Amino acid sequence: MNVQLKNQRALVTGGNSGIGEAVVLALAEAGANVAINYVTHPETAKALVGQIQQHQGDALALEADVSNPEAVARMFAELDKSWGGLDILVNNAGIDGPRAPAWEVDLAGWRKVLEVNLFGTLHCAREALKRMVAQKRGVVLNMSSVHEVIAWSGYSAYTTSKAGLAMLTKTLAQEAAPFGVRVLALAPGAIQTPINQSVWSDPKNYEDLLDKIPLKRMGQPDEIAQMAVVLVSDVASYVTARTIFVDGGMTDYPGFAHGG
Ligand code: NAD
Repeated sequence: MNVQLKNQRALVTGGNSGIGEAVVLALAEAGANVAINYVTHPETAKALVGQIQQHQGDALALEADVSNPEAVARMFAELDKSWGGLDILVNNAGIDGPRAPAWEVDLAGWRKVLEVNLFGTLHCAREALKRMVAQKRGVVLNMSSVHEVIAWSGYSAYTTSKAGLAMLTKTLAQEAAPFGVRVLALAPGAIQTPINQSVWSDPKNYEDLLDKIPLKRMGQPDEIAQMAVVLVSDVASYVTARTIFVDGGMTDYPGFAHGG
């Protein structure tokens, strides 16, 4: 099996941290030219560009807040100017928001999670699909979460955004399929990144988390990145309109391994 992305033009949102950074490096290793979207820490995005240009191929750092449709349109215009369009979009940017039950939650904060995770994905997917439908080629991969199906107390905005992402993925896939364009989602379980540092850096929280994972460990960003590369490549040419779970068995409801 040969996973090859030579001459493919890819954009990864939130590509300068955690899972996004691992996806950027894995796409570059598979031969793609990679544009790294960032909203903070331009220095890490630029360092990644330098790293890729030294070893593999072309790379760009593109600033845009994905929740802002004008900023997203400007980012795609820059991509057009540099590379004449794109073939792969990984909608990875996401936030989980502060923890609070829905009756105490700050509405502006709740809305912000939806603006980034759901609207941000839509803004980028719209721009990408316009181009992919016209060229009759392309893949959009949305970074979902096990929380598209598992409720998570205190994070109603996050779970709602990821459940919405699942249906957005399926509907966009239906719209794009006649043009040979695939749209799918990847749902990680608990992956060790800055987003969940408060969990893995606290022994009690960490132990509680491991109880929820049949494989009894957190995943690493690379384990998501490798699956992302497979899904956007021709190895997965017949896969569309689905969420693929990479979660150490978390959605196998480990609480039912005993009793019941
Ligand atoms: P992270 O915090 O390291 O990365 C998130 C990235 O998104 C950062 O680069 C951040 O700057 C960027 N971002 C945030 N708001 C943005 C905006 N408005 N515009 C552009 N970029 C923005 O966390 P991560 O764990 O690497 O998360 C990446 C994705 O994976 C998210 O969508 C997250 O929901 C999803 N995910 C993560 C886990 C996990 O366990 N780490 C599990 C399931 C799903």
